[in-house]
Order: sequence, then structure tokens, then C-alpha cells
Amino acid sequence: MTQATASATHTAKGETKHAADCKMSFGRKDASCPRCQELLAGAPARKGWQTEHFAAKSAREEQQKAAIRAHFAPNGPHAKGECGPVCTAFD
Ligand SMILES: [Zn+2]
Ligand SMILES: [Zn+2]
Repeated sequence: MTQATASATHTAKGETKHAADCKMSFGRKDASCPRCQELLAGAPARKGWQTEHFAAKSAREEQQKAAIRAHFAPNGPHAKGECGPVCTAFD
């Protein structure tokens, strides 16, 4: 015998996955599907590329907002005129 491989109900890593005939639709779980049972029991949604993508995106947006706040702060570079007569800091 070799290592466990992906089966109908588990991924290669041994995580439960939706059954091939899972009838989950519009967020309604299929109680006969192992992965749906897991979710019904409160298992967290698995992190996928979308989770990573949106986390990175909002982190970038937060950084940008912080940079803008710092630039326009009362004693920041903008108030001191460091960015010149016409502000091009965030063009
Ligand atoms: Zn399912
Ligand atoms: Zn400025």
C-alpha cells in the first residue's frame, strides 16, 4: 500500500470535501454530504485563493489610506508644503 490518495469524500491532504453528489445549493447544506455536515457543525470555511486575494487587497487599501492620512496630517508633509504648490503625492 502506498500513501492515501484523494477519495470521493476526502482530499489528498485528508480534508473532508463535498460528496460528488452533494446537493448543497444557495447555502443550504446537504445533510448526507460529509463536508456539509462539517460546515453545519461549525467548521470554518477553508481559505482559498479568494480569501488571500481579498485580504491582500484590503491590506493594500489600508496602507494607502494610512499614507494619505499621514500626508495630509496637520503637521505632515502636505501642510508643510513639501509636495509643492500642486499636490501630486497620490497621483
Ligand atoms: Zn456538501
Ligand atoms: Zn500633498
